[in-house]
Amino acid sequence: MRQTIVAGNWKMNASKEAVNTLVMGILSGMADVKSKVIVCAPFPYLSQAEALATHSQLHIGAQDINVNASGAFTGEVSADMIKDFGVEHVIVGHSERRSLYGETDGVVAEKVQVALDNGLTPLFCIGELLEERESGNTEAVVSRQINAVIDRVGIEAFKNIIVAYEPVWAIGTGVTATPQQAQDTHAFIRSLLASHDSDIAQSTPILYGGSMNPANAEELIGCEDIDGGLIGGASLKPDDFLRICKAG
Ligand code: PEP
Repeated sequence: MRQTIVAGNWKMNASKEAVNTLVMGILSGMADVKSKVIVCAPFPYLSQAEALATHSQLHIGAQDINVNASGAFTGEVSADMIKDFGVEHVIVGHSERRSLYGETDGVVAEKVQVALDNGLTPLFCIGELLEERESGNTEAVVSRQINAVIDRVGIEAFKNIIVAYEPVWAIGTGVTATPQQAQDTHAFIRSLLASHDSDIAQSTPILYGGSMNPANAEELIGCEDIDGGLIGGASLKPDDFLRICKAG
């Protein structure tokens, strides 16, 4: 039985005041939430968010890491640094990192490895572009993205990986994949993992991301192979986010 996981990705949105409001707002409604809940804050606010969430069920995550441990990498943040703040989760390979910062499948696989080597749980993001879906290449794209990680870290490592399937055309667009579209791709992802190890495929959480909101969360998370959500826009509204958390 896989536990539902709902993770918020605040992206580059926050201020000291907003972090306070968001975390306190989420904490105030967590009592009857059964899902595991994570919020991924921008680096400067990790410490504040972590302090506010101490001794609660809310987990704080980061949005990226550099592959290097330390050194002359101006502007970058290492796995060790985020761990210093008690962070346990990190988003890796978000489509915005892939498209805006040129992260290849190889770089993403290396980041997954560095996260795992440092005891962090990667939220490993995959997903196809609109033209890739329209040309019938969704399965080929997600296979390529997943195989790059399996080749690097091995299937056993998926015991500590959360997969997030995020069709790029659904991210921040208000266009959500239909439950059937999402379920079909999630089932395909699980079958791909199962071709390596069926037990690991059954236990790997596969989250859906892409314009999930309180109105569509229940139906999406209710699908057999959808184990929760990675939420962008709606994670910035505590009430909406909590409603999604309660949909699981
Ligand atoms: C995301 O950025 O991971 C995401 C799913 O965004 P949104 O929910 O806004 O589509």
